[in-house]
Amino acid sequence: MWYSKNPPSIELKSSKSIIHSFIVKGYNGLTINPYQGCHHRCGYCYATYEWSPEFYDKIYAKSNAPEILEKQLKSWKHEYVKPVMISSATDAYQPAELKYNLTRRCVETLQKFKFPYYVFTKSVIIERDLWLHQRYKDDCFLVWSITTCDEQIRRLIEPGTPPSHSIFQVIKKFVDAGVCCGVNIDPIMPLITDSPHHIERIIGNCHDARVQFISGAILRLRVDIWERLKSIINLLGIKNGIEKYKNDIYEFKEPLRSRDNINVKRSYETCILQNLKQRALEKNMIFDFPDLFRANSGPQTSNQTHSAEAQTLLLNYL
Ligand code: SF4
Repeated sequence: MWYSKNPPSIELKSSKSIIHSFIVKGYNGLTINPYQGCHHRCGYCYATYEWSPEFYDKIYAKSNAPEILEKQLKSWKHEYVKPVMISSATDAYQPAELKYNLTRRCVETLQKFKFPYYVFTKSVIIERDLWLHQRYKDDCFLVWSITTCDEQIRRLIEPGTPPSHSIFQVIKKFVDAGVCCGVNIDPIMPLITDSPHHIERIIGNCHDARVQFISGAILRLRVDIWERLKSIINLLGIKNGIEKYKNDIYEFKEPLRSRDNINVKRSYETCILQNLKQRALEKNMIFDFPDLFRANSGPQTSNQTHSAEAQTLLLNYL
């Protein structure tokens, strides 16, 4: 497997900087990661770069994150505030947060300085901070990344995450509290979580929880992700799965190079995402996300939702 049998260990570390800019395809924003490494141990994770070989087994809690954030925001010199993405390279509400409260304290600091923010999570621990996000509900957007409602598959592909029925119970509480919530079905994994039945179950649960916004993206392959995917395909006993990935669905040859980032075939992507969009629209959900970027980081335009390109940029992290 891609992680050890023991639960991850946690270490404290100090950081010199906690808030960082990103600019991709004309969209720019800020991101903070109060932790490094992730307890959720998703096999498809995009955040597992070579520089982080202990990603699944050692969690670093950035113990001075709230203080550093306060210092950095105090010296903010730009005319417009920018939305902050929490988090881009880990889950800010993983179990370590119960002990260290770093995410909670960073959110309090963002609110103090009036920065809008997105939270991306797979966690139910965020329920602890419902009051905190509720009091800021006009300037935050919470997104849960949910890949499957099939417990057998979830335990294999993302063993550290809670079951989807627990996540939907928490989402419903946030929706009932008036907080803007979305579900990102990401990644959709070919031959594993891409069947109409799979998608339909997630959409049905979103509808029952009265989720307003929905989106999704297909898995991208990188050399480390592909190695983990092969284990998953073998463990699930998917007949000819590895060959189908290489020859039909992604069309690539091994070995992958360290810089390869492979998208699924366009025809496959169109088929899956159009089906997802159609199902979402049938349930009166918006296939898009609200745009805290345009609303806060420059002159206003009439379009207040992300383009698909910006969504992909923002949401391929968790
Ligand atoms: S995909 Fe997200 S939740 Fe899963 S291991 Fe990676 S950072 Fe953690």
